[in-house]
Amino acid sequence: MNARYDLVIVGGGPVGASLARALAGVDLAIALVEAVPPRDPGQPSYDERVLALAHGSRRIFEGMGLWPRLAPHAHPIAHIHVSQRGRFGATRLHAHEEGVDALGHVIPTRAIGQALWAELPRQANLDIHCPARLTALELDATAARLHLETDDGPRTLEAALVVAADGGASPTRRLAGIDSEETDYGQSAVIATVTPERPHRDTAYERFTESGPLALLPMSEGRCSLVFTVRRDEEDALLALDDGAFLARVEARLPHQGGYVRVSPRRAYPLRLVRARRLTASRLALTGNAAHTLHPVAGQGFNLGLRDVAHLAEAIADAHRVGTDLGAPELLAAYERARRPDHDRTIGFTDFLARVFVLRAPPVGHLRGLGLVALNLCAPLKRGLARHTLGLTPPLPRLARGLAP
Ligand SMILES: Cc1cc2nc3c(=O)[nH]c(=O)nc-3n(C[C@H](O)[C@H](O)[C@H](O)COP(=O)(O)OP(=O)(O)OC[C@H]3O[C@@H](n4cnc5c(N)ncnc54)[C@H](O)[C@@H]3O)c2cc1C
Repeated sequence: MNARYDLVIVGGGPVGASLARALAGVDLAIALVEAVPPRDPGQPSYDERVLALAHGSRRIFEGMGLWPRLAPHAHPIAHIHVSQRGRFGATRLHAHEEGVDALGHVIPTRAIGQALWAELPRQANLDIHCPARLTALELDATAARLHLETDDGPRTLEAALVVAADGGASPTRRLAGIDSEETDYGQSAVIATVTPERPHRDTAYERFTESGPLALLPMSEGRCSLVFTVRRDEEDALLALDDGAFLARVEARLPHQGGYVRVSPRRAYPLRLVRARRLTASRLALTGNAAHTLHPVAGQGFNLGLRDVAHLAEAIADAHRVGTDLGAPELLAAYERARRPDHDRTIGFTDFLARVFVLRAPPVGHLRGLGLVALNLCAPLKRGLARHTLGLTPPLPRLARGLAP
């Protein structure tokens, strides 16, 4: 007999695990399928990355009741400073001007993983299949069948609805026959934790340079998380530098920040844009990186995925309340319609930043400088940027208002 569920979530990274958690209070039979145990050193989601969580994402975690577990690991961002190397022009955002206590929080992905996976095994409506890998998928009008490879041999699960949260390469997306647009930026993000000599004053810096953007996010104990974007052909050389030479490169790109005294081991990620052409198929919805993998320049990838979670959890909870089939085409079409504008806006904004700030022609650099100055001076433009950064663009689902779905 196949195990039968209302909902099967494939992928227990931060997006899939958040969806499972968001539905903790809903009387459904849910399964979470994850290939790599969360504490395994090879776990691809919960690694050295440190994420900038938008204010709106904090609200979503509050709605899930998870924020008290995350708060001790989260450092507030009080100010954001955006500038470009070797050119005039800068724009600044301040939490107090936006009427919030923090524009966002900086948190290690491992802390998100630990908080989520501490709660999930206790969740009464959830079965966890881990380690278990989805290898085949059948989708038809009556049900979805998921074929898994587990340590105890093959297993098959049936579900009314499958949610793919299995990352940028998404086997579920591929098995469902959903095409994606893919652009290789030809860049890599080298990440590390650095300790500046001067206090960071809870300020996040985004600095655009000729080879790509560089971000510095404030953390506890005076440390900062660094995301140093370089052309792919510069990656090996940057990783091979000794610590002193590496820090000198960082200092050269952020001169007004002073020097640095320490750096952690470095790690590189190739950067590409992946966007699914559709968000749904029969009895299937895509979320998180499975739907959209972004350049990290504006720190939007997980925030966008968490907003997918908030919308989908609400649609699922509402359907359950009125007794509708969770895999009904109307529910899936409404999810696709609800998420498209946010995806278009966030992907468009991120892709624009990733491309326009590496163009080298002098007039372009000048215009970028003017753009940053204009953004800083023009209240409506700045407000638009702030709302986007805060992750508070309406319509807000219940979770994003701090309520249960
Ligand atoms: C350098 C860098 C910096 C970033 N900074 C930020 C930031 O500041 N703010 C922000 O919002 N975002 C940021 N991001 C983006 C963010 O890391 C991702 O958007 C987020 O981790 C995606 O989560 P996910 O759960 O969708 O996918 P993933 O984390 O990829 O999780 C997918 C899960 O699915 C599992 N899986 C895969 N295949 C199968 C299968 N066949 N069967 C079962 N399970 C499977 C995997 O083991 C994995 O656990 C950054 C990304 C990078 C690279």
